[in-house]
Amino acid sequence: MPELPEVEAYRVAAQAALGRRVAELEVQDPRVLASGTSTTALVERVPGRKLVAVRRRGKLLVLDLPPTRLGLRFGMTGRLLVDGWSPVERLLWASPRLEPRWLRLVVRFEGGGSLGLVDPRLLGRVALDPDEDALGPDALTATPAELARALQGSVALKARLLDQRRIAGIGNLVADELLWRAALAPGRPAGSLEVADRTRLHRILRRTLADLVARGGSHLGDLMPERRPGGRCPRDGTPLVRGRVGGRTTWWCPAHQR
Ligand SMILES: [Zn+2]
Repeated sequence: MPELPEVEAYRVAAQAALGRRVAELEVQDPRVLASGTSTTALVERVPGRKLVAVRRRGKLLVLDLPPTRLGLRFGMTGRLLVDGWSPVERLLWASPRLEPRWLRLVVRFEGGGSLGLVDPRLLGRVALDPDEDALGPDALTATPAELARALQGSVALKARLLDQRRIAGIGNLVADELLWRAALAPGRPAGSLEVADRTRLHRILRRTLADLVARGGSHLGDLMPERRPGGRCPRDGTPLVRGRVGGRTTWWCPAHQR
């Protein structure tokens, strides 16, 4: 599923379209539009605009088309097509095939080329002028102070990390990989971390995201092959525990994650 590493790959690939002017926008399936965004508004406001920047905040991809912005969310199975190809070939829960009927929206540029949203399960959304500030700071660039602010309170640590309003971009697989690497138990209260724990978590967050971006997917972590019944901690061989934290299936090592 697209977490920060996949959306970062989409952002990098979409740089190919910078400087192009939109010729037309086609909504193939209006169900992909976020509430408050209509086909009429998109078709009125996007064509004629020039793509001057492609940004990412958490899992939200923002196309800057001044004075308009287009926000793309990829849900569980969404992929960005850049000039007809996908920078991420395979998502964990999605077919690697590209069926024409899964193409929900296309932005075509003057002189050729396009950006398209392919989404088999239709859980992604496209929004005109999305509310970016509803999201917390981006997980890849958050400062230690921003991470500390996101982790206040007695809610489970993993639940806080998954809360996109607090810190944006961490999904279920990245959270389990991160907490395993940082030797922190997912269910402990977020606000219970000592300064040294938070400093380590911040450092490992950046390193983990950088690793997963380089490897090309959120499902390519070191813990991932063991996230299964009978799986063992790759660090110390202890059988992993499975439970629900923050409403999500969670795997962790009871020996070294505290
Ligand atoms: Zn362990």
